[in-house]
Amino acid sequence: MAEQKRDYYEVLGVSKTASDDELKKAYRKLAKQYHPDLNPGNAEAEQKFKEVNEAYEVLSDKDKRAKYDQFGHAGVDPNFGAGGFGGGGFGGFDMGDVDLGDIFGSFFGGGFGGFGGQRQANPNAPKRGASLRANMTITFDEAMRGVEKEINLNRTENCTTCHGSGCASGTTAEICPDCHGTGQVRIQRGAGGFAFTTTAPCSKCHGTGKIIHQPCPDCHGDGQVRRQRKIKVKIPAGIDDGQSISMRGQGNEGLNGGPAGDLLINISVIPDPRFQRDGYDLYLEQKVSFTQAALGAELQIDTIDGKVKYNLPAGTQPGTTFRLRGKGVPNVNGRGRGDQYVTVKVQVPTNLTSEQRDALKEYARVMGEGTPAPATPVRDFFEKKRKKK
Ligand code: ZN
Repeated sequence: MAEQKRDYYEVLGVSKTASDDELKKAYRKLAKQYHPDLNPGNAEAEQKFKEVNEAYEVLSDKDKRAKYDQFGHAGVDPNFGAGGFGGGGFGGFDMGDVDLGDIFGSFFGGGFGGFGGQRQANPNAPKRGASLRANMTITFDEAMRGVEKEINLNRTENCTTCHGSGCASGTTAEICPDCHGTGQVRIQRGAGGFAFTTTAPCSKCHGTGKIIHQPCPDCHGDGQVRRQRKIKVKIPAGIDDGQSISMRGQGNEGLNGGPAGDLLINISVIPDPRFQRDGYDLYLEQKVSFTQAALGAELQIDTIDGKVKYNLPAGTQPGTTFRLRGKGVPNVNGRGRGDQYVTVKVQVPTNLTSEQRDALKEYARVMGEGTPAPATPVRDFFEKKRKKK
């Protein structure tokens, strides 16, 4: 018959008269001790964890505890009752005129969601749909301004024909007679004088707990179908390359009324060769001529808002960086913007015409220069930034 099960009170290490508080305390301590997360790969701890959960599940329930006190494991174990009861009988004790329907009624009657929840997942319990991932590429400009795009998505949705039941119109599923709707059967094995029981998916219903005699023609009994959907995605201004957008409830739909999963969209941003981004700040190199740097000039500088005017002061040194406040990237949360840093790159003229060469020679003469002045070391903002990356 069924395996030798330890007494539930013994499992929790409490007396038969233990109060609810004592039970809870003992359970918490043991559940923590044997929790699978704290004992990875430890099969014995996992077994103990299951045992502790099972014991607490029964003893913490007034009705179940009373039945357990009266009938032992047979009074509260659905598998024990369903599998072993009819064949082997109870053996140890006299059932007298106790109505079996009364004992098991409360467990079997109210559907299969009520019991065993800790030990074996009910195949018909609500289950959250899987979350989905998708990739989307946008331009730098779209990332700066924000954009609304559509994405083509293949996802699992509940069949609208059968409303997820998987049954053809006017028919219903039968609860699997082999596993009584649990989707799992217990298999007893013996090894070296020890008998132990494992659970396996029920082969008759393939673990679903139900048998569909006339499947829905649209979903072929799955209750769910694959659908192609166009999803509108709102991408906020300021999003950076590699960030993702989470859309709640746009993943696969849940089973048995469970919630849908989420849709996670990874965003790739095509860079703009003019701008480098660091957080919410932008960096740009501005080429100016030697004379503009020397004499000063009104520059037209590229920003993500278009060109803006900037008065370059006379005598600006190469590598000088100035800041355009508030011209950086909009904050993705909608508040404020970063700055734009502009580094001056002085272009030394090449391929001079003879007229230009003469003018420069005259300039050199006025400056009293026989030979070029030694180069002034400059702090090169971009070099520094590149090295950092
Ligand atoms: Zn269907």
